[in-house]
Amino acid sequence: MKLCRFGEMGREKPALVTARGVRRDVSGHARDFDDAFFAAGGAEKLSAWLRANEETCGVVPESARWGACIARPSKIVCIGLNYARHAAETGKEVPKEPVIFMKAPSALCGAFDDLVIPKNSQKTDWEVELALVIGKRASYVSEAEAMGHVAGYCMLNDYSERAFQLERAGQWVKGKSCDTFAPLGPYLATPDEIRDPHNLALGLSVNGVVRQNSNTSDLIFGLPKLISYLSEFMTLLPGDVISTGTPEGVGLGMKPPQYLKPGDVVELFVEGLGKAKQKAVAYHAS
Ligand code: ZN
Repeated sequence: MKLCRFGEMGREKPALVTARGVRRDVSGHARDFDDAFFAAGGAEKLSAWLRANEETCGVVPESARWGACIARPSKIVCIGLNYARHAAETGKEVPKEPVIFMKAPSALCGAFDDLVIPKNSQKTDWEVELALVIGKRASYVSEAEAMGHVAGYCMLNDYSERAFQLERAGQWVKGKSCDTFAPLGPYLATPDEIRDPHNLALGLSVNGVVRQNSNTSDLIFGLPKLISYLSEFMTLLPGDVISTGTPEGVGLGMKPPQYLKPGDVVELFVEGLGKAKQKAVAYHAS
């Protein structure tokens, strides 16, 4: 099952994407794809309900905006330097333990929303990533138990302002949390849809030129390790997002480095998790 949300920002409704690629409104059954939904085993219940009711769910107009595929989570936890060649292009060692950083949940947006280049930004960069959403509260879980805590998988573009991240002292969070820096989706695929999350092609292009092209088989730390490891330091709650890191090919690693400017178009995909597209626009007070 593929879960998505549609409608204007902040007023999204839940829907699902059918095998034919049509979105069906399921707001008559589920209030939203939020922490309460996942904590109550909502995906399994929705799947059972749909067997008899899918045809009664209205078709979402194609023109309707794609929202983030889940409601704003308690946290977005990201993994840094989790592909060896990406670590090399940033001039960093391959880490001995997972590198963790946070992204403000207010950065969340839809997969086709404009990327707003922040005020005073010179170095806004792209990062295609496989993300997972937690379905069941996780505290001190073993690697063997970890995958039982996953509600599904989706794609995240971990936009990053490199000057804010690396030149302004302190934690990376400064360069990771601007509004629109976390387009998530287009949809959340439940685990039955993804046979092996450690063997998914993923890539990204800017203005039609391929910049990232890799596979999650190159992840240094796999998903069971990441979930187990994170759960030693924080309780992972239903609906939380974990983004697993980006492969090589970011703007920071180019010689000379290349960053996004208004008008640039970023397109990305993760195998089985759809495609997304964002156009960069200049910051404007809203
Ligand atoms: Zn990242």
